[in-house]
Amino acid sequence: MRIAHLASEVVPFSKTGGLADVLGALPPALADLGHDVTVVVPAHRTTLGDAVPGKRSGEVGILGYTAKVSVLPHRGVRVVFLDCPALYVRPALYSLAGQDYPDNPVRFAFFARAALAAIAKLGGAEIVHAHDWQAALAPLLLRHDGKTRFAMPAARTVLTIHNLAYQGGFAPWALEACGLPRRLFTMDVLEFYGAVNFLKGGLVSADAITTVSPTYAREILSPQFGCGLDGVLAARGNAVFGILNGLDLDEWDPARDTHLERTYGVDGAAEGKRAARDALARELGLAPGRRPLLGMVSRLAEQKGADLVTAMLDEIVAKGLDVVVLGSGERRYEEALRAGQAAHPGRVAAVIRFDERLAHRIYAASDLFLMPSRYEPCGLGQMIAMRYGALPVVTRTGGLADTVVDADAGDGTGFVLAELTPAALMAALARARKVLSSPRKLQTMRATAMTRDSSWGASAREYVALYERVLGLPAHAAG
Ligand code: ADP
Repeated sequence: MRIAHLASEVVPFSKTGGLADVLGALPPALADLGHDVTVVVPAHRTTLGDAVPGKRSGEVGILGYTAKVSVLPHRGVRVVFLDCPALYVRPALYSLAGQDYPDNPVRFAFFARAALAAIAKLGGAEIVHAHDWQAALAPLLLRHDGKTRFAMPAARTVLTIHNLAYQGGFAPWALEACGLPRRLFTMDVLEFYGAVNFLKGGLVSADAITTVSPTYAREILSPQFGCGLDGVLAARGNAVFGILNGLDLDEWDPARDTHLERTYGVDGAAEGKRAARDALARELGLAPGRRPLLGMVSRLAEQKGADLVTAMLDEIVAKGLDVVVLGSGERRYEEALRAGQAAHPGRVAAVIRFDERLAHRIYAASDLFLMPSRYEPCGLGQMIAMRYGALPVVTRTGGLADTVVDADAGDGTGFVLAELTPAALMAALARARKVLSSPRKLQTMRATAMTRDSSWGASAREYVALYERVLGLPAHAAG
């Protein structure tokens, strides 16, 4: 199949979040299955600088802007950069000092239109797979814009939601600036409480909708998780699917991790993790000793349960756990964590920054990994933690529910909180402490967690089955 992905971010060329990781890993996994895969992205100069990679291959113009098209073969796929300096030379991708760029609707309406034009020029595609609001106009245009449809009449569309909270909502003036006809500004298509909503336009137009875990796919049909679009999604209920993200196993592997002084596999996990714990204690000023270490690597936001963690810090320490948190985000949580470190010298380490190397070392050193999210489309932290033998302590929501098996269920890989409350957190930690004090039970759980399959292979096959379904082909048997 000829498959074209459209997204604003792709590792290693641009990244603000998990979206970029998915686009860096899923397309190569699809290419490994024998498909012809293209990824179209804006040439964000924030990270690329002046050197846009690839070979020039003409240009596309629309909405009064022109983008040079350049094509780079990369990990078995074709990455197509749309280089339009007027729109994509910015200090950061979407906003500055907390303010979204006012021309964001035009930046990404141009992206969707120019990407479709570039794909058509490069030979077309059977599947156009758009990701998040930045690409969500592509399915809309292929359904409602005659010229676009005419250029790729056979294309079918998939739209993936990586986080429903970001929808691309804009004042109505955006319609004209984006070249969108007024007739589409209705409740059935683009209009959402008086605003133009790119994501909604994509959701009502795509042949299939996916999100990044089966549980989140069900949750977003409810008012609690639907961010106002639950009605729109429920109306498309039989076209909504959940496909779990994988991990980049080259990057996250304790047996080959260059950030660790001592690498380890399942067999040497106890020794390897002790060495990592000692090294981290020296680096961060934690007291030496054999108290269990609870780690957290996270954006510090309410979504991630940062409020609960900061409120419960004293009690967690009183229960005999040492704590290390690496994160940045909302100031009130950053301050609370710094205060926690000051109040518990040698027992709590709070590192407030983004630090890839330290993240690797914390996953390796931790016995337990805390991720009590309020909602979690998929979550990578818990998957990385399991691979490094740190047993995750998580809420039963979204991708956390789909990836972590509770210790009490047999073949457990972690500890699942029944609800997001102080009592549930302390109860889960008490259960975890029991396991940590039983070397045999710990070893079994750790081995199960470390050998869990988090590769992209199975998920890539699920996407292929979905593409075949929307193309009306018979689906392959799984595997
Ligand atoms: P989200 O995308 O919602 O932030 P995920 O769990 O899906 O959450 O992905 C978070 C990723 O970012 C993980 O790889 C985690 O290790 C990493 N990360 C989060 N905060 C930091 C930080 N302060 N330093 C280094 N890595 C971080």
